Amino acid sequence: MLIDNHNRVINYVRLAVTDRCNLRCNYCMPEEGIAFSDSKSLLSIDEMKRLCNILVGQGVDKIRITGGEPFVRKDLMKLLAYITKLEGLKEVSITTNATLIGPHIEQLEDFGINSINVSLDAITPETFHRITRRDQFELVRENLMRLIESEIAVRINFIVLEGQNEEDIYEMLEFQRKHDVRVRFLEEMPFNGGSRNFRNLNWNHRKILEHIRGRYPDFEKLPAPLTSTSVNYKIPGHTGSFGIIPSFSRTFCGSCNRLRVTATGDLITCLYGKPVANLRTTLRSGLHDSFVEEALVRAVGSRAKDGFEAQEQFGPIFGSSMTSIGG
Ligand code: SAM
Ligand code: SF4
Repeated sequence: MLIDNHNRVINYVRLAVTDRCNLRCNYCMPEEGIAFSDSKSLLSIDEMKRLCNILVGQGVDKIRITGGEPFVRKDLMKLLAYITKLEGLKEVSITTNATLIGPHIEQLEDFGINSINVSLDAITPETFHRITRRDQFELVRENLMRLIESEIAVRINFIVLEGQNEEDIYEMLEFQRKHDVRVRFLEEMPFNGGSRNFRNLNWNHRKILEHIRGRYPDFEKLPAPLTSTSVNYKIPGHTGSFGIIPSFSRTFCGSCNRLRVTATGDLITCLYGKPVANLRTTLRSGLHDSFVEEALVRAVGSRAKDGFEAQEQFGPIFGSSMTSIGG
């Protein structure tokens, strides 16, 4: 079992399968994209399978597949077919922009994927285009509706962006009134690859909640696991629910149970810190699995207490993009 130097059990890994993406969300990367990794430095599907196997052997029971856009990776379904059969892995989930998922929905259900987070920060095609710089709103909406009708649990991740989509907050709440989906409102974080300035956060978790209370004064807090990053609520009579993720305020670090592995094998022990090791080198060195296990144990043995300490330790990181970190 992986236990960090603050006595937190690490049982959750977010694995990015690519840093490439077919959208250009302005809070994530610049219009021209970033310097994407060349294909040789990406972990192969076989390397990811081996890594997941090792991680599960170390007590990881939840893996989230992310990116870049995971469905840009052509051989993604081979990885999913494999990891959804791993004994000991209780939960496999995916974060996606839902543009390319359409042809795979039935197979994802067959694999038993537990949940899918759809990142959608707009309720109209115009706002969607302004934020993502692409014209794919109708496709995303259609795929989202198909996912909601499927066996898979669906959540929508909506980043509240000052001056860009505040007017869609109430519309999103109307959406979860009618549909069985949890809409999670996220604070914006400063990982946009230099796409735009990030000074301070106006729409923090408190302001988001107060704004919601302005239209929906009655809601009740839902119970959540200690390790949850979102605080969740239910409005009486609504089919779905909503949550708020203080991703910039970082109020949840004390119970953090996650590690991140980027598409190039970098191991990140805190979202706000730099990579602490590269697992690709170890995976390709011809050495036994125990060397990868040792690298993992070493990394979790010196984790920052929280995102503020990680940020201090590793210096300014505001030039990086979420497409390489994985979210
Ligand atoms: N392309 C997929 C998607 O958009 O769902 C997966 C990768 S994306 C980097 C993972 C998550 O990070 C998404 O939910 C996205 O909204 C979130 N994200 C990206 N940039 C962010 C930022 N600057 N602040 C907060 N969340 C961000
Ligand atoms: Fe692509 Fe996701 Fe980043 Fe948007 S948030 S540009 S969909 S990786």
